[in-house]
Amino acid sequence: MRLRVLGCHGPYPCAGGATSGYLLEKDGQALLMDCGSGIFGQLMRFTDPAELAGVLLSHLHYDHACDLLVMRYYLEQRGKTLPVYVPPEDHSPFRELLSCPAFDVAPYPEELSLMGLRITTLPVRHPVPCRALRITDGEKTLVFTGDTNDCPNLAGFARGADALLADAAFLSGEWAENKPHMSAAGAARLALEAQAKALYLTHLPVTHDPETLAAEARNVYPGAQAVFPGLVIGL
Ligand SMILES: [Zn+2]
Repeated sequence: MRLRVLGCHGPYPCAGGATSGYLLEKDGQALLMDCGSGIFGQLMRFTDPAELAGVLLSHLHYDHACDLLVMRYYLEQRGKTLPVYVPPEDHSPFRELLSCPAFDVAPYPEELSLMGLRITTLPVRHPVPCRALRITDGEKTLVFTGDTNDCPNLAGFARGADALLADAAFLSGEWAENKPHMSAAGAARLALEAQAKALYLTHLPVTHDPETLAAEARNVYPGAQAVFPGLVIGL
């Protein structure tokens, strides 16, 4: 597996940048995790969106899903329909906007098989229904937390992940129990408890130097790094 970071900011991108979006490639196939602002244009640099095996949405906040509304036009012109998986608990107006011939929108089943990968999900702690994703090819495992504050079951869900891609939107001094995201240090505590083999910080606010966030994480989990557009994580 190979994970390519297309965008990693939240809740809005930097100049010329993109919010949440990651391309997961395996054996010449690819699926897209999240499709936030600016992601469609980034995706076009690497693959034909009409050839994706599917789209996995952690949740339907606009910084994770809005570019699907533009991808729709492309797919309609190509006469293609993509499977799009969403949290089963979501009944938002945005989900209604995805009801069109370009998308076959379905709730995550208990276990999803796509591209020979086994994909399971966990409800996490965010103001709207959101799922963490655990994706394994039988040898290597990627866990993406989606958007979440500290969440009791997440360490068990992420147990032994080869790569943990974790929401780290706050410095410790900004974080609070009622916030919608973890801090970088919280992500690092999660990685430590889950015994993850590598920690990648994402959902980075454009107002912060990513290295400041990474440094806070490294105080807890040595080796933690902030992702950036263009980063390719080999698994
Ligand atoms: Zn969100």
